[in-house]
Amino acid sequence: MQARPSRVLELSPRPFATRVTVNPSFVIVGAGIAGLSAAWELARTVDPTQIFILEASDRTGGVLQSLPREGFLLEEGADSFLTAKPAATQLARELGLGDQLSGSRDQQRKTFIYQAGRMWDLPEGWRMVAPARVSPILGTGLLPWSERLATAARMTGLFPTPPPASEEESVATLVRRHCGEASLRRIAAPLLSGVYGGDPESLSATWTVPRLAQAAQESRLWKLLRQPVAAGSDSTFTTLGDGMGSLAAALTSALLAKGVNLELGCPVQEVVPQPQGGFRLKLPTGGGYSAESLVVALPAPRAASLFAASVPTVAHALRQIRYGSSVTVNLAFRPAPQLPQGFGFLVPATRENRALRLRACTFAHRKFDHRAPEGDALLRVFYGGMLDPEVLRLPDIEIVNLAREELRQTCGIGATPNFTTVHRWREALAQYEVGHGARLQVIATALAPFPRLRLAGNAYQGIGVPDCIENGARAARELLAG
Ligand SMILES: Cc1cc2nc3c(=O)[nH]c(=O)nc-3n(C[C@H](O)[C@H](O)[C@H](O)COP(=O)(O)OP(=O)(O)OC[C@H]3O[C@@H](n4cnc5c(N)ncnc54)[C@H](O)[C@@H]3O)c2cc1C
Repeated sequence: MQARPSRVLELSPRPFATRVTVNPSFVIVGAGIAGLSAAWELARTVDPTQIFILEASDRTGGVLQSLPREGFLLEEGADSFLTAKPAATQLARELGLGDQLSGSRDQQRKTFIYQAGRMWDLPEGWRMVAPARVSPILGTGLLPWSERLATAARMTGLFPTPPPASEEESVATLVRRHCGEASLRRIAAPLLSGVYGGDPESLSATWTVPRLAQAAQESRLWKLLRQPVAAGSDSTFTTLGDGMGSLAAALTSALLAKGVNLELGCPVQEVVPQPQGGFRLKLPTGGGYSAESLVVALPAPRAASLFAASVPTVAHALRQIRYGSSVTVNLAFRPAPQLPQGFGFLVPATRENRALRLRACTFAHRKFDHRAPEGDALLRVFYGGMLDPEVLRLPDIEIVNLAREELRQTCGIGATPNFTTVHRWREALAQYEVGHGARLQVIATALAPFPRLRLAGNAYQGIGVPDCIENGARAARELLAG
């Protein structure tokens, strides 16, 4: 497959000669997809010149970062979004990127699980925390016989499924009572870890797999799973031809074209609510901004630090949401090495795999079109998560060596990659742990005295790109309505 030439847009923010106190109506802190979406929604209604986006780094997009290189298209952060959630597709179409939308090649969609020294097929019909079909469960060698039979017996109603012990259970508890320990460790945990980088013992089922958790609470999970999945031609995942970064770049260009102000290299240090209403935003270099209305679109730990001195109740509430960190490693191979036929594989953190730190590997050139030149391969390897934060401390070269050694062990790849990249994502993935709803309530109470302040980002109501687009837009609508 030929990699297509890049159309990633260059950003041209309007630089400020000096950082002076200005008084715009709306300030958005953070130009990730949530902050940009908030600005986009505001700009539909208010004078765009009254909207200011302040971004700490020298680029917009946050976790959306695509890098074209030598005919490959590397994703350093998010590589796609769930097609079933329409917000990202709608935004891309609105920005004129409809022809760039590209579905995953689901005809080649197969995920492997590396366990005890070999690749196993993920049992067909497995839906995140439990299986939908009996025969693949009976047939998988990934699970011990006793567990296969017990799960099949529960699925068919021969054995009762133990009832939930609490109203909000962890993912681990839900999987254990429906399927068992091996299903949790070898299948559900690595699948969830691929999204949250989290520990299933603490992740809330209610918040991470809401529909399945609701059904499990009502003792009808098996019934829900048996319902046929609506047939459709849509692929499971969607990306853009020029990568996820091109969505943020196009949104940024559209905002700038409307007259929205963007300042890069502008880390907000503190937010101080003013007695007469509005907010004062302090920058480390002195100067700052005053805002009548404010959207803080940052990961919760960073949002917390803005309020630490001025409103400790808000800071304290935000700090209760824990975040995971991860590392992505891209390895470009020319020509492609021999690989299992699928999208990639997951590595459960089991006793048998304890020598491996790699948690997942995507064969990016198989998952989507135009990720590598014809005959070449692009592999994306993930490290870190809540169970292995120490990996972020390793120097790049050690991480690359680790990835190469672990790809040799798992896939037999001995070839030297043509080039590699390493990207650390510190405190980037929110963990929706048991009690998340109560924590959101505490945050809402702490924010109640500040009706012109809204939070957006992945800490609250959904971690995926479409969720962040939606909650950024929602924050804007709430301010407009208030
Ligand atoms: C490695 C990784 C892979 C992922 N893969 C997928 C995927 O494939 N599909 C999917 O749907 N989701 C994925 N996600 C989740 C999703 O990408 C994120 O939840 C989402 O992009 C977060 O967007 P955001 O705008 O809330 O935050 P961010 O993208 O984190 O943006 C926050 C912005 O705020 C800026 N900032 C920080 N502090 C300050 C400050 N003090 N002042 C001003 N600016 C500041 C940052 O520089 C950054 O630009 C992934 C996440 C990670 C970490």
